Amino acid sequence: MLTNILRWLGRACQNTGREKRHVPVIIPRKEHGISRTNISKHALKVLYRLRDAGFQAYLVGGGVRDVLLERHPKDFDVATDARPDQVQKLFQNCRLIGRRFRLAHIHFGAHIVEVATFRANSPKNEETSPHLVHSEAGMILRDNVYGTLEDDVFRRDFTINALYYNIADFTLIDYVGGLEDLKTSCLRMIGDARHRYREDPVRMLRAIRFAAKLDFHISPDTETPIFELGFLVKLVPSARLLDEYIKLFLSGFAEASFQLLRHYKLFGILFPETEACLNSTKSHQVETFIKDALTDTDRRVFEHKPVALPFLLAAFLWYPLQFQKERLRKEGMTELAAFYEACDFILREQQKNVAISRRLVQGIKEIWILQARLMRRSGKRPLQLCAHPRFRAAYDFLLLRAVTGDRAEQELAEWWKEYIVGDDEAKAQMIQILKKEMPRYRRKPKKRL
Ligand code: ATP
Ligand code: MG
Repeated sequence: MLTNILRWLGRACQNTGREKRHVPVIIPRKEHGISRTNISKHALKVLYRLRDAGFQAYLVGGGVRDVLLERHPKDFDVATDARPDQVQKLFQNCRLIGRRFRLAHIHFGAHIVEVATFRANSPKNEETSPHLVHSEAGMILRDNVYGTLEDDVFRRDFTINALYYNIADFTLIDYVGGLEDLKTSCLRMIGDARHRYREDPVRMLRAIRFAAKLDFHISPDTETPIFELGFLVKLVPSARLLDEYIKLFLSGFAEASFQLLRHYKLFGILFPETEACLNSTKSHQVETFIKDALTDTDRRVFEHKPVALPFLLAAFLWYPLQFQKERLRKEGMTELAAFYEACDFILREQQKNVAISRRLVQGIKEIWILQARLMRRSGKRPLQLCAHPRFRAAYDFLLLRAVTGDRAEQELAEWWKEYIVGDDEAKAQMIQILKKEMPRYRRKPKKRL
């Protein structure tokens, strides 16, 4: 599909002088392979209704990019000249969301089509506009300056994400050489990458995500500033970071994303304690543990099995927790006290560097604490533990630990593997055997005075 378009594009470039970046290449329907059968019926419905109401309506972003790459789009995004309130009037199932970006979400059961009004990068009078607000560091805090289609192109992130499919005549519009970059598997920021990263540091994480997911290389101009400006990701609010973590680590390309995050020195900014362990004498063990967690998550995504972010973050921070626990043990704390103290310490340290939501912290802590509970197997404890809502995650975590862990962890994992498949009788027997094997601790009789 792309080869055909580019053959056409070669001609079009000569004809239109595409060196001037603001002259769009417009590819007619018969010259590109985007067919309406590739577009979800919900997105088509939204596009048609906007068009029939007299508005411009385009499919843009990942929907167009992925169809051209003959991949299955995750979702479909629509761009229009209709204002959010005008969109809302057209659709009963519409909700307006976002403060930073005002967007319309059109709900079709579990599916959402996101409709964004064309935006401009800067208003005519930026200093006094209440619609575009920057922080002192140049970060965009609010961006609701509406503009034209052309304005909208230049506020998007990468060239491959700025291709517009026009529902009015089914043409494809390319202002920024996105088609050529798709053909050469190149991720390229629109405009000055340094400035665009300062405006929104999440774009650095998006670069990693698309490079990992699409197996694209990042153009030199787009990749170089990441090394210099990576620290800005620390300023991203925790809710946005959480969204991005979900996309980075739970979309089936977590392992590739991890490799790239490390390559671009972003991983150490997001998880400094983990990075320190990855550079310690135990680096091989730590890296294998994390990679196992990531590849396992990727496999589960492809098998359509549930995956959870707390699990992965618990894995990222597991070795920092172990190292801290050892430090506390050396200071004379008991195993259990050191473990609990280290849990709190590591989560606090992580929060100091990059904010993670309270719910996420809670989820991570729960998985860790259940690791301690998995060791206590007397009486009814194992049975009660099996009924815990996070048991499965904790058990999977134990299996993961066993791969790189010591003999005790491996034996514990084997015991649980057998326990969960056993019937009631077998389970009771396992507890009995354990009781005989375990050394008995007798309480010292109280001294009588
Ligand atoms: P996918 O949905 O497959 O993850 P996508 O490219 O559609 O990829 P979305 O997050 O859905 O990504 O965003 C839709 C489009 O909005 C993008 O393609 C891009 O054009 C634009 N966009 C999203 N986030 C940003 C950003 N931080 N800066 C500039 N443009 C952005
Ligand atoms: Mg999308």
